[in-house]
Amino acid sequence: MQWTGLNELREKFLSFFESKGHLRLPSASLVPQNDKSLLLINSGMAPLKKYFTREITPPCDRVTTCQKCIRTPDIERVGKTARHGTYFEMLGNFSFGDYFKKEATAWAWEFCTKVLELPEDRLWISVYEDDDEAIEIWTKEVGVSPDRIVRLGKEDNFWEHGTGPCGPCSEIYFDRGESYGCGSPDCAVGCDCDRYVEFWNLVFSQFNSDGKGNYTPLANKNIDTGMGLERLACIMQGVDNLFEVDTVQNIMKHISKIAGVNYGDNEKTDVSLRVITDHIRSTTFMIGDGVLPSNEGRGYVLRRLLRRAARHGRLLGIKEPFLSEVCDTVIHENMSAYPELAEKKDFIKKLILNEEISFGKTIDQGLAMLNAMIDKISEKELSGADAFKLNDTFGFPLDLTREILEERGLTVDEEEFNRFMMEQRERARAARKASTAEAWAGTKSILEGMHPTVFTGYDNMSSQAKIMAIISGGELVETLNEGEEAIVVLDTTPFYAESGGQVGDTGTITCDGAVFTVGDTTKTHDGVFMHTGCLQNGTISVGDKVSAGINVQRRQAIMRNHTSAHLLQAALRKVLGTHVEQAGQLVSAKTMRFDFTHFSAMTPEEIAQVEKLVNDEILAGINVTTQEMSIDEARKKGAMALFGEKYGDVVRVVSAGDFSIELCGGTHVDNTAKLGLFKIISEGSVAAGVRRIEAVTGYGVLLQFNMLHDMLAKAAHAFKLNNIEDIVRRAELAVAELKTKDKEIEALNSKIASSQVDNIINSAKSIGNVKVITAVLENSGADTLRQISDKIRDKSADYISVLAGINDGKATLACSCGKDAVKAGAHAGNIVRETARLAGGSGGGKPDYAMAGAKDISKIDDALSQVESIVANMLK
Ligand code: ATP
Ligand code: MG
Repeated sequence: MQWTGLNELREKFLSFFESKGHLRLPSASLVPQNDKSLLLINSGMAPLKKYFTREITPPCDRVTTCQKCIRTPDIERVGKTARHGTYFEMLGNFSFGDYFKKEATAWAWEFCTKVLELPEDRLWISVYEDDDEAIEIWTKEVGVSPDRIVRLGKEDNFWEHGTGPCGPCSEIYFDRGESYGCGSPDCAVGCDCDRYVEFWNLVFSQFNSDGKGNYTPLANKNIDTGMGLERLACIMQGVDNLFEVDTVQNIMKHISKIAGVNYGDNEKTDVSLRVITDHIRSTTFMIGDGVLPSNEGRGYVLRRLLRRAARHGRLLGIKEPFLSEVCDTVIHENMSAYPELAEKKDFIKKLILNEEISFGKTIDQGLAMLNAMIDKISEKELSGADAFKLNDTFGFPLDLTREILEERGLTVDEEEFNRFMMEQRERARAARKASTAEAWAGTKSILEGMHPTVFTGYDNMSSQAKIMAIISGGELVETLNEGEEAIVVLDTTPFYAESGGQVGDTGTITCDGAVFTVGDTTKTHDGVFMHTGCLQNGTISVGDKVSAGINVQRRQAIMRNHTSAHLLQAALRKVLGTHVEQAGQLVSAKTMRFDFTHFSAMTPEEIAQVEKLVNDEILAGINVTTQEMSIDEARKKGAMALFGEKYGDVVRVVSAGDFSIELCGGTHVDNTAKLGLFKIISEGSVAAGVRRIEAVTGYGVLLQFNMLHDMLAKAAHAFKLNNIEDIVRRAELAVAELKTKDKEIEALNSKIASSQVDNIINSAKSIGNVKVITAVLENSGADTLRQISDKIRDKSADYISVLAGINDGKATLACSCGKDAVKAGAHAGNIVRETARLAGGSGGGKPDYAMAGAKDISKIDDALSQVESIVANMLK
């Protein structure tokens, strides 16, 4: 066996199985598509599940992949065992009802012994204890010696996940030698230590389980295998653990360099280096696949991993953000196989940096708080309340707290913690749930079981319909009378019900002089449309034939804005890059609000470029078409879909030429020219890594233009200009004039101050060798006081002045002492403090000049009258 690099091993595996008639498919996203049962893809077969169940026909009965995987349940083992990462790549070959055990085992053996040339005397096989067929094949057909095969129980070697396809497994192990063993006399294949490493698992899914212990053979048997690429590389490169594999090692080296810690020096710092190496890989790939940090779901997994990595950084003595820097190496090492990482590099790095900075603000305080809590606990357990406090105040995820405690042999009351978390969630939920929302839930349950409403509004603005139900006062009623509010359900309707960010339609439902005005339209999960509104006159009853007509002008404005959202998304991806994904939108008649993933604020040039691209498409007058097709066909066409959004088998694809192709259920104009014009009115941030653009089209642009024009006209009027064009010049002139005037005012103030000085000096009283001056100056602030004080001091070195400036109902005191006065023992800071104290104030400063504030203006005169005695007491 020969040293082989990780990238080369991946290629060897995939091309080997291609040579056995397999179709090579790219790795799926880490975010499961159309699969709510899984938070993150954790195996090669996970994204192929629907091929196994035949819900979707596979493109080929034999497929081979190298799949990115995340396994957070392994998080506690990361860095401690040699073979677990939260992120790893899984190689696999799959048969969808095509070949079975015989071929799967023979090819696995051929790949191990012939392609990789792994020595046979280091390989071990495990099979499920009752699977005699597998033993027979391994020994008789493949030619493995029976004494190298062990039978293991259901726990290890039977793959089963609830009801459905399941079956026995057979694993291939590599014996790394005694030195890696745990030393136990029972150490053998299946032991949890790092001697016998399971690196390939072959799953023979041959039964259907009813979940009650009954297994019936499947007509079409499947093969699903999984081999950890890093584990294989570890074996092929003869290194100790997955973090020392060629490409992964470079990431660890980068961290070592930043931390100034050598790998191998100390087991404790080695664990931290390995944990960070792993977590920065997982998080880089997760963000690359569109996961954003948040407080729940996938986003929380991401946040937890980043925080855990940041804390291990602290253990290594790294105080500054560093993970985003390490990202460079992760991307560099992986971009040949995953070029999307390089494309999204800036975005990934900025997002990580942002998270690091925000956690960095609380981590040290949190750690200090945890230490204080630990000092106080009497039992060996931290209370759930304390753990909750750490989470709530400092953003410490439970597993981070648990890990720190474990390092000191302590535990945490997780049950209590979860109870606190649950209570908090409940409180938040209750706060969100207004009473109307509860009434709403009631309405929905009343409508359960009703036929879905037929929507005619893609092509029609009005249609004939029949009233199927009326709900008023939270109950079903037969008849509605004038002035009553209600929800009306029709069999068919042109009213669009709020969804996909597009607001519901408004309009009227009429019959025989009765007019029901619809203020909003929404729908239940089952597709029953609810027209909410009020009966203006007449009566309506269930079963009535009615005319339903929407507010056409409003809807047209909505359609313009919705189409503009599609054009905007396409333009943003062109200008900013393909990392831009829709993160939410609100399409109303007035404006269009579009949220998207992008880190930094857009520059004015970028905004102008996007605006121009969209307007180019509008002015080119491109037809907007809608087509129904299968989701696969839509994907092939390159349609943009939302991450994690569930789509049915048949989807609606809205295209504006080749410029924009999107899956969308909304209503659109039939030609881009109908948008008139498109104008972005704001661009800003909504959350970490998410930006928001608000824009207008059609009359909205005219409105915007008129508003600005009106503003300018008013400004011109205020400046008494006849010509609006002169306004900029006039505004510049006004600013320049103000500046000159400010200077003039300053000069005048100083002149006035000088003239006052002479008057003030005349009132000087001699005390010993110094002369004391006090004065109250109306409308004088700190600046004027200083100017006058300076001037007095310049006149003679034996002056002591205490001036009180009154301005805006407040008093400021300033004391200055000339050189000789200071020599005689006067101290401006002390004089002003004592004087201010007499008028309810405080202050102080240097011996030659000091200031103070005084609250009680009425006492200023009294306070100043005391200055002489204050000074007298001070003199030597
Ligand atoms: P283990 O018992 O060692 O955790 P497993 O039984 O969970 O392994 P499988 O679910 O059979 O593993 O996954 C198939 C292959 O994927 C394994 O043989 C191994 O090579 C690889 N693998 C599984 N978990 C990890 C992990 N956390 N890190 C790296 N590789 C892994
Ligand atoms: Mg496992």
